[in-house]
Amino acid sequence: MEAASETSDPEPSRVYDTVIIGGGPAGYTAALYAARAGLDTIVVEKLSAGGQMALTHQIDNYPGFEDGIDGYTLAEKMRKQAERFGASTLYAEVVRAKLEGQPKAVETSQGTIYGRTLILATGASPRELGVPGEKELTGRGVAYCAACDGMFYKDKTVVVAGGGNSAVADALILSRIARKVILVHRRDTLRATKIYHELLQNTPNVEFRWNSVVTELHHKETLTGIRLKDVHTGEETDLPCDGIFVSVGRKPSTSLFEGQLELDKAGYIAAGETTETSVPGVYAIGDVRTKPLRQVVNAVSDGAAAVHMAEVYLAEAGR
Ligand SMILES: Cc1cc2nc3c(=O)[nH]c(=O)nc-3n(C[C@H](O)[C@H](O)[C@H](O)COP(=O)(O)OP(=O)(O)OC[C@H]3O[C@@H](n4cnc5c(N)ncnc54)[C@H](O)[C@@H]3O)c2cc1C
Repeated sequence: MEAASETSDPEPSRVYDTVIIGGGPAGYTAALYAARAGLDTIVVEKLSAGGQMALTHQIDNYPGFEDGIDGYTLAEKMRKQAERFGASTLYAEVVRAKLEGQPKAVETSQGTIYGRTLILATGASPRELGVPGEKELTGRGVAYCAACDGMFYKDKTVVVAGGGNSAVADALILSRIARKVILVHRRDTLRATKIYHELLQNTPNVEFRWNSVVTELHHKETLTGIRLKDVHTGEETDLPCDGIFVSVGRKPSTSLFEGQLELDKAGYIAAGETTETSVPGVYAIGDVRTKPLRQVVNAVSDGAAAVHMAEVYLAEAGR
């Protein structure tokens, strides 16, 4: 894995056509399209290629892999494909980014790099329950995405923790796969849109545990059950289950950009299908932007759209 080396340089000697922050599926697809379009392209990634996708043991809903593929392998394929056409990767953490003006400056743990356009692909991450053992059991009974991992729980008993729209959507997906779904919510009613309440309440294999929070995860090799605490009485009960889907929200990785561009109410970068943000020449792609569904398939689609828009911007600017 070769990393491009850059140094701090107040008078930039090299200005990339596009600097992509984040090397998940969105970032590397943008890199592929940009490099193939002949743009001088660099990806800045703080960990390794793939982002959240690389943590996924098996991806069965990304077209083209009839037997599925593990997220790490798919990520490496995406990185190599982009680098084959000349995109480079700088393994460094972006600590500051100046979005306005020209050139745009990206300060990293390895120095500052400059771009005529910036593509923001820093992703999002699911909020955790914050109970002991959660990290270690991820992929072994603890999951964060029913559309992704639901199939591993066919005919099993699963818990969904949460009460908002995404928890209800997850519970509905799982009700078609699992034998039993138990929705655990800290309040005595769902926060989700009204239309969902009746739908879920009329689903025969869905049960509810109201006014309850998860305090412990029981496990051997994999999850065997959870402990619940009643938020009013403090009474604790054990609930055997094969899996728990944590659906208590997501946090977008946007702290670097706060105050510089428009975010939506939930903190995601406000950008539609064109991926254009409120700052000219700056595009937001993948999980970090406002969208109804966050999956690999639409993260990669954003990457292609952003490069198309960046090419238009560069052409109009005469670059
Ligand atoms: C457990 C789990 C299972 C999933 N399973 C599936 C599935 O089966 N199918 C599916 O389609 N989707 C699945 N998803 C969703 C999918 O992984 C995401 O939609 C997808 O990864 C989003 O891609 P992205 O490139 O937008 O962001 P991410 O994958 O989040 O990548 C963002 C990248 O930006 C980097 N980054 C962030 N901040 C900085 C910084 N300051 N400096 C440098 N780099 C930075 C991160 O290190 C990361 O590599 C799953 C998600 C999870 C959490």
